[in-house]
Amino acid sequence: MKWSWKLGKIAGIGVYMHATFLILIAWIGYAEWRQAGSLAAAAAGIGFILALFGCVLLHELGHALTARRYGIKTRDITLLPIGGLARLERMPDEPLQELWVALAGPAVNAVIAVVLLAGYWLVSGLAPLSLDLVGGSFLQRMIAVNLLLMGFNLLPAFPMDGGRVLRALLATRMDYLKATRTAASLGQAMAFLFGFLGFFGNPFLLFIAFFVWIGAGQEASAAEMRAALGGIPVSRAMVTDFRTLSPHDPLARAVELILAGSQQDFPVIDNGRLAGVLTRADLLLALARQGQSSLVSDVMRRDFQVAEPSEMLDTAFARLQNCGCRTLPVESRNQLVGLLTMDNVGEFVLIQAALSGVAKPAFR
Ligand code: ZN
Repeated sequence: MKWSWKLGKIAGIGVYMHATFLILIAWIGYAEWRQAGSLAAAAAGIGFILALFGCVLLHELGHALTARRYGIKTRDITLLPIGGLARLERMPDEPLQELWVALAGPAVNAVIAVVLLAGYWLVSGLAPLSLDLVGGSFLQRMIAVNLLLMGFNLLPAFPMDGGRVLRALLATRMDYLKATRTAASLGQAMAFLFGFLGFFGNPFLLFIAFFVWIGAGQEASAAEMRAALGGIPVSRAMVTDFRTLSPHDPLARAVELILAGSQQDFPVIDNGRLAGVLTRADLLLALARQGQSSLVSDVMRRDFQVAEPSEMLDTAFARLQNCGCRTLPVESRNQLVGLLTMDNVGEFVLIQAALSGVAKPAFR
């Protein structure tokens, strides 16, 4: 994610902090200082927020490490002011695996709450616990906040974990697409209810309603996409009419080709073999820095992914989304036979949908 700083690595997973997170910390510190007028209060407020996000990080690690048990890697974990985000390379295919991965996060918060509660009772001699988020002691507030994190994330609506739990449970009884549609509709009904309550009561609910509404829509369209692409080989949707460059071409040649057609990224062929990919973004950057006379070989990416014609479209498309590129060269027996691009896959799905007259995929 742009505007994120790496904090470190935990269990081999990069942990990042988004720049806007600093604004939250500064704002909390300032608000506490204004209210209590002491630096100690400001430091305590910031300490609480950092501890809270420590719990959010453990929650995300719960998802990531459970996914790893099923052979799914996590690309990174980013801490945002609205919570954490663990980006898994893919979602589990088995509903029960998705269920465990989704439950692992809230389970971590439940464990933290229980451990802290035991600590609280140990220190206080079994004093009754009040879950006061504002007036309580540090320990009381940490317990309350972990219970809140658990409960909030278990709401049965995308993009919350509870939405995935619901979808996984439904998917054990019906097909994945139908399960996603049902879970998404329920999520949007809930968003509507939150929005309604938000108008008359807590405005924070409006904010949640917005997130749930968007999340449900995105999840539904991602599932439609997967269903539309499953079981179809790459060869049926790849571009077979395309231009290539040589490593010795000047960038001016690439500019000519871009202006002459609609191709964005160009495979670079050296002695009949695929040697690299020149992307439009890299080309523009190089033009601004070095001008048109530098060579394609200086700018092209040598580290790129390829697809095979017989590979299934849904897995190739998932790699296309994850590689941060817009084009995958398609190779058969070390020969370049086509290009798989985001735009073309989109066109393919629209055509399929028009032909079958049922699915209506949406793109964002
Ligand atoms: Zn979660």
